[in-house]
Amino acid sequence: MSRIAYVNGRYVRHRQATVHVEDRGYQFADGVYEVIAVRGGHLIDRGPHLDRLGRSLGELGIAWPMSRGALSVVLNQCVRRNRVDDGIVYLQMSRGVARRDHAIPANPVSSLVVTARNQTMAPEHFEAGIRVVTISDIRWKRCDIKSISLLPNVLAKQAAKDRGAFEAWQVDEEGFVTEGSSTNAWIVTPDGVLVTRHLGTSILSGITRLVFLDLARRHNITLVERSFSRDEALEASEAFLTSTTSCILPVVQIDDHVLRNGRPGPMTRRLRALYDEYIDGLRVGLVGARKR
Ligand code: PMP
Repeated sequence: MSRIAYVNGRYVRHRQATVHVEDRGYQFADGVYEVIAVRGGHLIDRGPHLDRLGRSLGELGIAWPMSRGALSVVLNQCVRRNRVDDGIVYLQMSRGVARRDHAIPANPVSSLVVTARNQTMAPEHFEAGIRVVTISDIRWKRCDIKSISLLPNVLAKQAAKDRGAFEAWQVDEEGFVTEGSSTNAWIVTPDGVLVTRHLGTSILSGITRLVFLDLARRHNITLVERSFSRDEALEASEAFLTSTTSCILPVVQIDDHVLRNGRPGPMTRRLRALYDEYIDGLRVGLVGARKR
């Protein structure tokens, strides 16, 4: 079965899916994106993802290329046409095609590209835990916008890979961890408090981060949204990262420092179990909604 992509109004073979050379996404990274998880053929947390998409578009003054309802149809079509059971949908919106000029053209027509693929996370990955390295955060001052301008994130991930790690935790000028290259960063303090950086312009408001905050609150886990330094992370009793594609992964080593003898901690395990329950609940709800 060949993969299908959606490009500006047409479903095309993935191999032949192309955009114009003067698309501003290609020329200037003038666009935004979302990655939505698919479980059992259903989009997970579609609402919050589309809310965040709307916010990113709004901050950059890019128009929706179609309504939210129409976009949901396209996303579901891409899931169905690619027979995605467990995987991800990627969508990208740019300011569209125009003669190359930095200034924003009059009346641009936004572009939309959607791809979908099966992708699962091996459970061993959770059990083994992952290593992170710390690097300085060289990004711009609007990391709250899910921009397709990802060069610093690409370099951060490569720096991690070059050092045999899964992720790079970026550290701001004051020594505080902002986030990973494509994940949010968390620690558990020695007295058991869950900590993740507060929202602002230095991090992306991860949808998985929001889900875990909500789960923690609902299960009376003590949590604080505040900055934590690299030094504090080294002294933490547990650390982990979250994202749509990684879900939750225990961090068992930060640079050369091994945490918890290299084993996932009890809080990380508990949150993972709560997340699995949450997804199962969503799936039951979604199947129920379809039958009605
Ligand atoms: N931070 C950054 C910089 C990211 O790219 C991502 C992944 N999109 C995240 C955090 C996690 O966000 P989410 O939970 O919505 O995948």
